[in-house]
Amino acid sequence: MEAAELQEGKDAAAYNMPAREHQVDRTDRLFGPEEAAPPDQRLARQLRRLQEVLQQTGAAAAREVAQQAGLLDGEATLDKLRRVPLLRKEDLPRVQAQRWPLGGWVWWERVRRLFVSPGPIVDPEGPGPDYWGCAAALHAAGFRAGDVVLNTFSYHLTPAAWMMDGGLQVLGAVVIPGGVGNTEIQARAASQLRATGYTGTPSFLATLLQRMDDLALSVHFQVALVTAEPLPGSLRVRFEGRGIRTQQAYGTADVGLVAYECPRKQGMHLLDRCLVELVDPHTHEPVPPGRPGEVVVTLLDPTYPLLRLATGDVSILVEQPCPCGRTAPRLAGILGRVAEAVKVRGIFVHPGQLREAASRHPEVQRFQFVVRRAGDRDQLVARVEAARSDPDLARRFAETVQAVTTLRAEVEVLPPGSLGEVERVLVDERRWD
Ligand SMILES: [Zn+2]
Repeated sequence: MEAAELQEGKDAAAYNMPAREHQVDRTDRLFGPEEAAPPDQRLARQLRRLQEVLQQTGAAAAREVAQQAGLLDGEATLDKLRRVPLLRKEDLPRVQAQRWPLGGWVWWERVRRLFVSPGPIVDPEGPGPDYWGCAAALHAAGFRAGDVVLNTFSYHLTPAAWMMDGGLQVLGAVVIPGGVGNTEIQARAASQLRATGYTGTPSFLATLLQRMDDLALSVHFQVALVTAEPLPGSLRVRFEGRGIRTQQAYGTADVGLVAYECPRKQGMHLLDRCLVELVDPHTHEPVPPGRPGEVVVTLLDPTYPLLRLATGDVSILVEQPCPCGRTAPRLAGILGRVAEAVKVRGIFVHPGQLREAASRHPEVQRFQFVVRRAGDRDQLVARVEAARSDPDLARRFAETVQAVTTLRAEVEVLPPGSLGEVERVLVDERRWD
């Protein structure tokens, strides 16, 4: 009996079908009506919520900053919010140490848990069944009541596991608090307990599946929500080839979940619980949709009402409607960290965009972009190695770079082996003395 059941699960996975013992309707449905609210209504509601939060909160620093920006007088507006100086994530350890409690940004009476993330940065958790806002993301990823979910984030010191755990409880799932490591025990538990869902990093899911295969264990996973590191397309294809629907989400340890993928997997919808801006990290001005900017988050929660937390992550805002019916704007993935970006002719360019451009030309084996000064002008030079000679490659590659970055690039096509090992995709050779 046991062996037959195990075999059935294994075959189902091999044929890209859900295991028969757990049939769940994972059809995409909205988690709540707010997911389909018209965008202007959403913004108006968020701004009202921002004001309520700031009037209500016991976090002294948040109230002081809000007062100075005029957010407590009359209506709260985006213009008023933009008067608030950015709170840089890397400054949080210093800010939190300067004044008790946590720099004055926390409403202490509401704190239920305290986490200590690297930095050290303290992340408070407030009351409520899904304080970190994960339920909508899990639901969009196909998680449903009755799923048994292996949650492989750490339950110690950092909040990621508790974020997922809270959302899963709200959905009515059964959680196996796996935590980090102990791969074999987790592999055996997932198989024995017929875990249908996985939460954790994509790389640990790959490790876990490998271990389950090595031990000839049946795999019952049908859905996975991954976060905390990039999800390479190749890995997603591998998971989905085994019948594991895989979606990603984006958040920070400070505020919780910020955005999540819908089944269309064309960017991550922003959650209503945060007001998100994308700004030029040098001028702090908002960047237009379609241009990369630093993700700046205002958390609409009175426990820890961070105003304009500059995350250091770079993304692009997409405002076009999504066919899934969710109306919130999307983040087009996380391109990387602000520190990697370079300004060329006044335009902020991130290596993630350049990787994206190069990925559209499979014939390009290696590439590197160099920013130089030619007279008084910045010059973006793309040096690419191609597998075979193609007289048209330079023109086509330049077109792609322009489509992705808006910048015109000089393209040098080099024979294979010319570039050696490319450590950095974007090198700034300008000298300003
Ligand atoms: Zn969507």
